[in-house]
Amino acid sequence: MYDVDHFINGSFEASLSGERISRENPATGASLRAVARGNAADVARAADAAQRAFAVWGRTPAAERSRILLAIAAGIDARLDELARLECEDTGKPLALARALDIPRAAANFRYFATAILHDASESFVTERPVHAINYVLRKPLGVVGCISPWNLPLYLFTWKIAPALASGNCVIAKPSELTPTTATVLCEIARAAGLPPGVLNVVHGLGAEAGQAIVDCPQVRAISFTGGTVTGRRIAARCGERLIPASLELGGKNAAIVCEDADLSVALPEIVRSSFLNQGEICLCSSRILVHRSRMKEFTERFVDAVRAMKVGDPLAAETDLGALVSKAHREKVIAAIERGVADGGVVACGGGVPRGLAPRVAQGAFLEPTVLLGVPAESSCVQEETFGPVVTVHGFDRHRDAVAMANGTRYGLAASVWTRDLSRAHRIAAKLDAGTVWVNCWMLRDLRVPFGGVKDSGIGREGGHEALRFFSDVSNVCIATGEVL
Ligand code: NAD
Repeated sequence: MYDVDHFINGSFEASLSGERISRENPATGASLRAVARGNAADVARAADAAQRAFAVWGRTPAAERSRILLAIAAGIDARLDELARLECEDTGKPLALARALDIPRAAANFRYFATAILHDASESFVTERPVHAINYVLRKPLGVVGCISPWNLPLYLFTWKIAPALASGNCVIAKPSELTPTTATVLCEIARAAGLPPGVLNVVHGLGAEAGQAIVDCPQVRAISFTGGTVTGRRIAARCGERLIPASLELGGKNAAIVCEDADLSVALPEIVRSSFLNQGEICLCSSRILVHRSRMKEFTERFVDAVRAMKVGDPLAAETDLGALVSKAHREKVIAAIERGVADGGVVACGGGVPRGLAPRVAQGAFLEPTVLLGVPAESSCVQEETFGPVVTVHGFDRHRDAVAMANGTRYGLAASVWTRDLSRAHRIAAKLDAGTVWVNCWMLRDLRVPFGGVKDSGIGREGGHEALRFFSDVSNVCIATGEVL
């Protein structure tokens, strides 16, 4: 076990209160970390450091910011194995997944925004009457911004916010989830070694209601970028509304996969299995409701359930593991309760539903859960309506495409959806009617960092990715210059 400290003004420090939160490895139950339990006093120190650093970083040329951020990306690559192991220990996810997905994407986030700022351009407008003038749009960093992220893809989502914030010239106070704080700390070491000046990136650890709330309340903080649950997002939005500061909110999802009558199951099946259970189903983009055209229902369900039964749950360090542990036993209880509600409402467990047997002794006490498929759960069941954020999917039949669209849109969420068909005009017609910030056709989680990313309805407000993120972290001034020429 070792301590995880705040990173303030370029130094690692304990909380002023001296308090710590203990965290255990969810796969083994072993004690893992003692995490600094930050509060408003720690955030105030971080804010002072960030405000001072902004005087220089806010005026540092884009080429220099880019050079440092590229060095951070290289630093992440260089510590891939160590970061992947730490991510695996904190989350319970398979080591191979952390190595292939989480950590490379964290480096890609820095690389993308480091180079995007070198090619940025702004708009200009010519006014003809009554006086000839040229307008141009000037974008400036906001100053100090807050970035708050969840536990499911820790470094991946943490850097998805921090990289555009820093690239745009802001100084950051960030808080990773208290459940998965470790890779954020290593990132601070990497950033310091890459030459990021003290105070530009500050990390305050701790509980959401304490450290997180203090960041949102901090007077110097000019914007909040948040990813997490809808309930938390609503609370943060209310506070940001009172303070009149912008909030970008990436929240929960209950995503549908729509399998049409002409879907190519050789492509769709493995991808829908992956979309349902990757990272133990703990990705906001995971499919949790699979809507299948009635003509393919029997064939799809049989093949899908066979494929899910064949998945291996167990030791995250084992190369053959498909699903590791959930993030905690408390979270596993919530997921099991959702399955039980589905069954109480009339659903049938086609596979999974319980704690796997025969786990290796090293992980016998871990928070594991079998990948679970439920059939026949009514659409109005809370198991179908509410985000489960675990390895659980419900499968439903539909007759007409418009019924599939109505079912897909029939929850309060609107993050993502996928459509599986060989007919691209049908795919377009369905996609255009879906309440979803992202629709994938014949693919899932194919991410291009340039595209706008976010949700509609209760899945969030605002967009991340590409120019959207750079714009979120910028103030805009229009400069209007009269040329003196009267036309
Ligand atoms: P959470 O809302 O409990 O916590 C997220 C972060 O917010 C944590 O760092 C937490 O400490 C902090 N926090 C909690 N209360 C706070 C408060 N009052 N003020 C400020 N900060 C506070 O979410 P979680 O359980 O960590 O993550 C799971 C959720 O995240 C799921 O709902 C999932 O769908 C969502 N998520 C969304 C996306 C997306 O891009 N839309 C991506 C990943 C996860």
